Amino acid sequence: MKKTFSALALALTVCLPSTLYAKNNVVVVATGGTIAGAGASATNSATYTAAKVPVDALLNAVPQIQELANVSGVQALQIASESITDKELIQLARKVNELVKDPKVNGLVITHGTDTMEETAFFLNLVIHTDKPIVLVGSMRPGTALSADGPLNLYNAVALASSDSAKGKGTLVMMNDNVYAARDVAKTINIHTNAFNSQWGALGTVVEGKTYWFRTSTKLHNDSSAFNIEDIKGDALPLVQIVYGSDNMLPESYLALQKAGVQAIVNAGTGNGSVPNYIVPTLVKLQQEGIQIVRSSRVANGFVLRNAEQPDDKYGWVVAHDLNPQKARLLTALALTKTKDAKTLQEMFYNY
Ligand code: GLU
Repeated sequence: MKKTFSALALALTVCLPSTLYAKNNVVVVATGGTIAGAGASATNSATYTAAKVPVDALLNAVPQIQELANVSGVQALQIASESITDKELIQLARKVNELVKDPKVNGLVITHGTDTMEETAFFLNLVIHTDKPIVLVGSMRPGTALSADGPLNLYNAVALASSDSAKGKGTLVMMNDNVYAARDVAKTINIHTNAFNSQWGALGTVVEGKTYWFRTSTKLHNDSSAFNIEDIKGDALPLVQIVYGSDNMLPESYLALQKAGVQAIVNAGTGNGSVPNYIVPTLVKLQQEGIQIVRSSRVANGFVLRNAEQPDDKYGWVVAHDLNPQKARLLTALALTKTKDAKTLQEMFYNY
């Protein structure tokens, strides 16, 4: 009896941690940015060189992440995110696709520069078919600065990526303790650590390694997306560019893009994606010549209402709904790999 009891006790102590409490495997895919930045002194919180520190050093700087998950690192890029082109985006997506297909991987963290983190997050949200958590994270201060925000952001990101509760919620952005949906998160302040926001609110928050959820995104993403990185050939997307709206615009800005070979122009218009009366004829003509015109807005919040301010039905134009111009560029480029029909493109803007 005594023997059976001690055998049972031994089995429990040996087996419980590795079965019931087995840690998930998380891969940190490093791409550069400030989170991998280094400055000359601790007071250089804004003057430093981005994309310097390799992934192993990033992971070793926060040993506590190994308590949350079995964490390993991959260096995919070492770049400041404003220099990412479609080529790097596609390359990164292929790497991410390979990793999520690995049955041993439970979740991914992607360390990234904050400037275009919202674009990369949205792109992965559209083209990676998985329910495994994919979490993008960055920092506003380099690791060498006083009160560097990278270490806790990374800890939170690993907590989120290793959490089964994050499965199927779409590609996520973890910044400043908040969890955001890739589709509506944006960098809204360029100098403080609360740099990211969504007009529809955060999905949740991470506190001391535990994730608390408050809402989910209703839009198509990852497994439910019609786009797939495996269908993208080569290293470029259909060319789509943005023109920023203001007073005193020039038709030549749009015509130069036509000359450069764009298949669509996202107009980051004023207010409701408005187009000046002296620009309308140029955009009507470009649409008739086969270039899609997508009306987005330079205003960060709200959404562009179809057939308001401009007769979109009459002109065959598309509205970007609540996607900001940079996300509208990516959705349009992906859509153009499947369709040239403005009505189908419009539906996509409502669904993603
Ligand atoms: N501009 C750099 C980048 O986006 C550094 C900014 C940052 O990561 O916060 O990679």
